Amino acid sequence: MNFNNSTREKQSPAGLLAGFSKQVREFWEALRNTPQAFRLVWMASRTTALMGVALTLVAAFLPAAQAWVGKLIIDSILSAANQGMSPMEGLRFVGPYLALEFGLVLTGSLTGQIRSLFDRIVQSQLTNHINSLIIRKAISLDLQFFENPAFYDTLQNARRQADTSALSIVNSTLQMGQQVITIISLVVLLVSFSPWLAVIVFVSAIPSFLSQSQYAERAFRAVSRRAREARLLNYLEMLLTGNDTVKEIKLFGLGEPLLKRYQTLFTKFYEEDRAIAEKRTWAGLGWGLLSSLAYYGSYAWIVLRTVAGQITLGDMTMFLSIFRQSQSSIRSLLDSLNRLYESNLFLDNLLTYLELQPQLIAPLNGRPAPAPVRQGIEFRNVSFRYPGSEVDVLRGINVHIRPGERIALVGLNGAGKTTLIKLLTRLYDPSEGQILLDGVDLREYDLSSLHQCFGVIFQDFVRYQFTVRENIGFGQVDALDDMERIKDAAERGGASPIIAKMPKGYESMLGRRWEKGLELSGGQWQKIALARAFMRKAEVLVLDEPTSALDAEAEYEVFQRFGALIEDRIAVLISHRFSTVRMADRIVVLSEGKILEVGSHEELIVLDGAYARLFNLQAEGYR
Ligand code: ADP
Repeated sequence: MNFNNSTREKQSPAGLLAGFSKQVREFWEALRNTPQAFRLVWMASRTTALMGVALTLVAAFLPAAQAWVGKLIIDSILSAANQGMSPMEGLRFVGPYLALEFGLVLTGSLTGQIRSLFDRIVQSQLTNHINSLIIRKAISLDLQFFENPAFYDTLQNARRQADTSALSIVNSTLQMGQQVITIISLVVLLVSFSPWLAVIVFVSAIPSFLSQSQYAERAFRAVSRRAREARLLNYLEMLLTGNDTVKEIKLFGLGEPLLKRYQTLFTKFYEEDRAIAEKRTWAGLGWGLLSSLAYYGSYAWIVLRTVAGQITLGDMTMFLSIFRQSQSSIRSLLDSLNRLYESNLFLDNLLTYLELQPQLIAPLNGRPAPAPVRQGIEFRNVSFRYPGSEVDVLRGINVHIRPGERIALVGLNGAGKTTLIKLLTRLYDPSEGQILLDGVDLREYDLSSLHQCFGVIFQDFVRYQFTVRENIGFGQVDALDDMERIKDAAERGGASPIIAKMPKGYESMLGRRWEKGLELSGGQWQKIALARAFMRKAEVLVLDEPTSALDAEAEYEVFQRFGALIEDRIAVLISHRFSTVRMADRIVVLSEGKILEVGSHEELIVLDGAYARLFNLQAEGYR
């Protein structure tokens, strides 16, 4: 509900009415996610959801039944006193009604307890269900989402309160159903006494409801608006407490200054929240006072009629209890409606996220990728710009890589080397032109079959905090238990000697996250990652600077072996070390997204262009 100032300042009755009807309309629109919430809860746990409905029905009729039994008790007491019964006779006369009331109270507290038990059960099942949905969606989305900061806001918003809000929608709806039944049953009793009282009960609750819903909406907007800042908050927290960052944070003395940024943000959030909560409380108090006035005014009137002998003492007790009950039922009905509204707003975030669709179009019945590759890979006039960016990162790329060829990509930082690899492995599609594998556009292949074709290690490869076996086996996850293959891959990646020295060999835990986890040096991690790339019987091996932490000798050795191992497969390698680069069959020199030169080391040296200049620069360093 959007309560902007212009609507609030319109004082004419027509203006007020228009504002009100707009408010109501927006309110109903906001409730549109309710069926989705039911579906989520239903998918998460059917039996518990059904039990919840049954218990709600039981609870709905309790207040009217209790008011009625209360009246019966008082009337029977009075009639026992009037008939001059002995205490024992009186007790026997009133006893059954007392037992009935006891039964109702017992039922009430039992249903309450069982419901909260079910609530807890459903909540944890629902949390699991929704988290799985969120993660599964993240798996299905392509790289471009993850390289886009706005996506993290959507994700952050989706995760926040999504699970609690779905259940809260369902519970609020059930409670509303319950309150409506309760109210109808009470009103039937109340109207028989005075229709006016029924009207007062209703009207006195409405203003409080409207003001509450307005604040619910404000609180929600505040939280959504701050997704970006919340991300910053998380990031600062990670910087200040992370294992990878602690060295720099300490030595540069960044701890306190960054903590200050953290606290400033936090204080800002806190102030906003507090202001909204305070206004909400004051409004609640004001309207609460109005309800109390209505209640005591009516109370006085009922007392008056009892004293005048127009109604019995039992009637009076019943009416008062109905009056109190129905007021509180209406209040909780409206509260539930507000909660329903607020939770709908939060659930909206989750649904928006779940509706995201991968941007890479995978063909329905894509071709299987070729094995072996016979004609190679051809880049044909490929240009590329990142989504939302204005500049072409790659421009007019034409190159044909033949089977069995070892290609090195060379260029300054930012030249577009990694981007080229992202296109080759179809993490992105070219903005213009095509990439052909054996003469067929990459977009025509089945995506997972195509990915299976590549063994890739990026410069920011993952250091899985799992066992050595898993770190290597993840290269071909269905061969996670194939020790022979894993050992073979470790041998090729040059990781065998490191593993041989570990106390538990392939079952050693890596990383500091777990107790007794072994932390490896940068070079050692790289050998493990290389082994992972070798795990896959890939047609195309891609190594994006995976050896930068190895010393020159180790890198040379790795690529010597690598050259011998690739046989008739394709290898694409990015490296800054010319001692390695010169081993490639052909070298592609990239600059600002364009290919400058292509040729073997010898050819490019003879050409005496950019490559020769870079090569001589580095060679000088070693002289
Ligand atoms: P290299 O691997 O040669 O160092 P990259 O391919 O990583 O170069 O980057 C090429 C250019 O693309 C750089 O200017 C970089 O800023 C830009 N770039 C890289 N990734 C993204 C991205 N996700 N969104 C927008 N621009 C990007």
